[in-house]
Amino acid sequence: MIRAPEPTLESIRDKVEAGQRLSFDDGLYLYRPDVHLNEVGALANLVRERKNGPFTYYNINTHLNPTNVCVYRCTFCAFRSDLRDPKGYVMSDAQILERGQEAVENGCTEMHIVGGLHHQKKYDWYRHIIQILHDAYPALHLKAWTAVEINWFEHLTGKPVRWILEDMLAAGLGSMPGGGAEIFHPEIRDQICEHKADAGKWIDIHRTAHQLGLKTNATMLYGHLEKPYHGVDHLLRLRELQDETGGFQTFIPLAFHPEHTKLDYLAKPSSLTDLRTTAVSRLLLDNFTHIKAYWIMLGIGTAQAALHYGADDLDGTVRHELIYHDAGAQTPECLSVEQICRLIREAGREPVERDTLYHRVDREGAQWRSGEPIAAGV
Ligand code: SF4
Repeated sequence: MIRAPEPTLESIRDKVEAGQRLSFDDGLYLYRPDVHLNEVGALANLVRERKNGPFTYYNINTHLNPTNVCVYRCTFCAFRSDLRDPKGYVMSDAQILERGQEAVENGCTEMHIVGGLHHQKKYDWYRHIIQILHDAYPALHLKAWTAVEINWFEHLTGKPVRWILEDMLAAGLGSMPGGGAEIFHPEIRDQICEHKADAGKWIDIHRTAHQLGLKTNATMLYGHLEKPYHGVDHLLRLRELQDETGGFQTFIPLAFHPEHTKLDYLAKPSSLTDLRTTAVSRLLLDNFTHIKAYWIMLGIGTAQAALHYGADDLDGTVRHELIYHDAGAQTPECLSVEQICRLIREAGREPVERDTLYHRVDREGAQWRSGEPIAAGV
């Protein structure tokens, strides 16, 4: 068998400039610390500007974590609580609706809903949350339940994924977030979350969602036990599903925060790792339109820099983020629209408010409506 020649920066640059797909070995090469970060970033920026021009997208959103009680014990998680731990909570219907009311009054277009897998809550409780929010605030897009939660609902109901997703769609589900992917490779997954949905299950759930017309996101939790080849493997598995379905909207690289987790002996990934991971993701995921710099986890300065290393989306103003603040994130719990636009302009990009499904938002104060879809390849 003839082996492909070893990648070089020049061979990778030629491919990127020609719009050709990068290989597994190219991905590994780009992760090497002796390959200058700025060179990798410049290539990622080329793709970023080809796909999204000068624009950086954001939305006005809020988070809802209905419970932190969870049957699982992922080693990287600072959010979960045992059933009888004083830290554990379950939100009432009134609290959930109050959060919806606050979101609407603040002009939010989206509520991001994820939480723990409560030992005693039945599937109907999770469905009920979607139903009451959708009935009360029909314009608020509900981006809810990771693939890990959908897999839990399979256990609770004994029903197939398709049934669960159709039932949630009937209740008012708008799209799915990309959490729970962590690192797909079993060498790492078995050390950090061996009990929950494996890579095949995560991918199958997103495939089914895409077949039903539900858009979803994808994530990768990096900066803990994984090696570069685990990261490349993860990204290429996502690329393969995107080739098949085209149902992913945005990829979000998630920086690990060790505080208050079982992996608290590890150092938090550096800004250089954050920027390299963003850039490699942009370069390998050639069939994803958007790469997000999640400012909550990256910190504001690194998120701004990431807008020149492949990222074109800053997530949103974000109210009530708990999961990463429990793990020691030092970022503010919310940014105003003025702050987020200033950060984007300061980074030399043009802010565009989007809705969850990437339409431009026409807004007057808290009143808004979805406008034109944002075209890929502007
Ligand atoms: S990451 Fe999710 S599934 Fe794992 S322990 Fe935390 S809340 Fe539970």
